[in-house]
Amino acid sequence: MNAFTVDVEDYFHVAALSSVVSRDSWSTRESRVEANTERLLGVLAERGVRGTFFVLGWVAERSPSLVRRIAAAGHEIACHGYAHQLVYRQQLREFRQESVRAKSCLEDLIGEAVLGYRAASFSLTRDSLWALDVLIDLGFRYDSSVFPIHHDIYGLPGAAPEPNQLRAPSGRTLVEFPMSAARFLGVPVPVSGGGYFRILPYWLTRAGLRQINRQRNRPFTFYVHPWELDPGQPRVKVGGLARFRHYTNLARCESRLRRILSEFKFTSMREALRLQGLLTA
Ligand SMILES: [Zn+2]
Repeated sequence: MNAFTVDVEDYFHVAALSSVVSRDSWSTRESRVEANTERLLGVLAERGVRGTFFVLGWVAERSPSLVRRIAAAGHEIACHGYAHQLVYRQQLREFRQESVRAKSCLEDLIGEAVLGYRAASFSLTRDSLWALDVLIDLGFRYDSSVFPIHHDIYGLPGAAPEPNQLRAPSGRTLVEFPMSAARFLGVPVPVSGGGYFRILPYWLTRAGLRQINRQRNRPFTFYVHPWELDPGQPRVKVGGLARFRHYTNLARCESRLRRILSEFKFTSMREALRLQGLLTA
């Protein structure tokens, strides 16, 4: 069973657009996260899939009923931090405050403990491993922020590709479900969702995910953002790589998602980690 995950944020929260979208402007922009998440919930209900929704604290504070609706539909609620700041650009104190704020907001809304955490833009890198100790202190039971590849914004090259116990600087461990990459001709190819899912041909994603399940005999994690199903979202004027990453194939994403949901078996990340014997909660 693979982990199906959603990072619940709006189109203007994305790190790739942050050079032209200031945090001060967020509250004046048209919010589309509720409608887009509802659409995603509809696709998942149609396919009978329950997943994990990593919700941004900023969104949860403004759309509490959305969080309750996701939970009521049987999905796991997990935490995507508060304001989508890259962890390696934060001080420990700020990271801790924001994580507490997001986690307690979500827990108040759903009335149960939030166990899982995913950093904005997978920003758990060599420079921010200290964050693992903060997450352990705050009672998180697992993290899903490590991308074991080289990338300009994120990445922990050489990290274990399978779900594992990741060691924090203090020596304690936290369960980690890393983002999935396949290997073709020795080259790691990220096939775990998001921009890769929209940009790479579908057959390549499918071949990579099959390789992980069948040849390596382990589950993969797949992620999508609500804004990726919204080709009508307001366009932000940004150039080059950022534009390519954010806007390519938005119109194809929903049909591809239906395909992937029918071709692989998915559950929540919490359940997938339980089945791996890594979580007992
Ligand atoms: Zn995000």
